[in-house]
Amino acid sequence: MSKQLRLFTPEDCARGREASQDSRRALKNVNEMIAKANLHRPEAEIAKIAKRLEDTPETMRRTYLRAVSGRSMAAGIKAFCAECVGWDRAEVARCTAPACPLYAYRPFVDRRKR
Ligand code: SF4
Repeated sequence: MSKQLRLFTPEDCARGREASQDSRRALKNVNEMIAKANLHRPEAEIAKIAKRLEDTPETMRRTYLRAVSGRSMAAGIKAFCAECVGWDRAEVARCTAPACPLYAYRPFVDRRKR
């Protein structure tokens, strides 16, 4: 029995990219992002999360929200490490704290080079 493969055309890829960019643009507003995240937290906690989200660079906001929503441990580690080094991904890879409990799990590292 042969499986039928679906081949994506360049137009399919372009449509997918546009849809993805549209959804990212739509989530730029912090309050909108918080509302869409469905955090199920008390008001006081939501206010603190909103404040921190405002201080988070746009490129990391979705990761931060996935982390605080409790939906992804990987996002939690990624957000924590990125925040630890001032939101600079390259600095996470160059982290000089091998005794940190997250060191072995830190993101943005090319593990093939070890
Ligand atoms: S592994 Fe490094 S970057 Fe990540 S939390 Fe620990 S000290 Fe910070």
